[in-house]
Amino acid sequence: MPEIPASTALIVVDVQKDFCPGGALAVPEGHAVVPVINALARRFATVVLTQDWHPADHRSFASQHAGRAPFETVEMPYGPQVLWPDHCVMATPGAALHPDLDIPHAAMIQRKGMHREVDSYSALLEADRRTRTGLDGWLSARGVRAVVVCGLATDFCVAWTALDARRFGFEASVVEEASRAIDTGGSLARAWAEMAAAGVRRIARAEEV
Ligand SMILES: [Zn+2]
Repeated sequence: MPEIPASTALIVVDVQKDFCPGGALAVPEGHAVVPVINALARRFATVVLTQDWHPADHRSFASQHAGRAPFETVEMPYGPQVLWPDHCVMATPGAALHPDLDIPHAAMIQRKGMHREVDSYSALLEADRRTRTGLDGWLSARGVRAVVVCGLATDFCVAWTALDARRFGFEASVVEEASRAIDTGGSLARAWAEMAAAGVRRIARAEEV
C-alpha cells in the first residue's frame, strides 16, 4: 500500500522525450529524474502525469515569429512569452512520455498547451491566467488537499504548476532531486524566489517527502 494518503497527489510534470537529452528542447540531465520519480511515485496513491501537447503551429514556437530565435522573449496579448524550439508537437514521438517512466497507477494524464495562441507551463491554468485546464477540479473532487510537484523543468512548468496549486488553495511542495531546470536568463533563481514567497515548500531529496 502506498504510504502517502490519497489526499496528497504527486504531479509529475512533462517527463517527455523532447525535454530529455536528444530531444527538441532538452533540459540538461532531464532523463536523470526518471528513476527518482519512478521510486517516488510508488509511495503515492494519487498520481497525475502532465504532457506538454502543442499543435504544430503553436505560438510559443520561435518558428512562428519571423526573425526571432529560440529563447528570445516576445510580448503576447497575455504578457511576455519565451520563444522555444518546436517541441512536444501532439502525437509526435517527441511528445511521448519518457519510455522508462514506470507509473502504471497514474490515474490522470493532463495535457496542456493545446490552444495555439496560449502557452501553458502550468498544469492548472494557461498562460493567459484565465483558462483553467480543469485539473484543480479533478484534484478537489478526489479530496486532494496537497500536491507534491516534480519533473521538467523546475523553473517553468514545475514552478508554474506549484504556484498555481497554491493559487487554487492546495498545499504545494517541489522535490529538487526529482526535477531539473532549463535556467535561462536567471529563471531558476527567480522561480525559487517566487515559489518561496507563495509558500511552496522546497524539498531537496525525494526521501524527505
Ligand atoms: Zn511547450
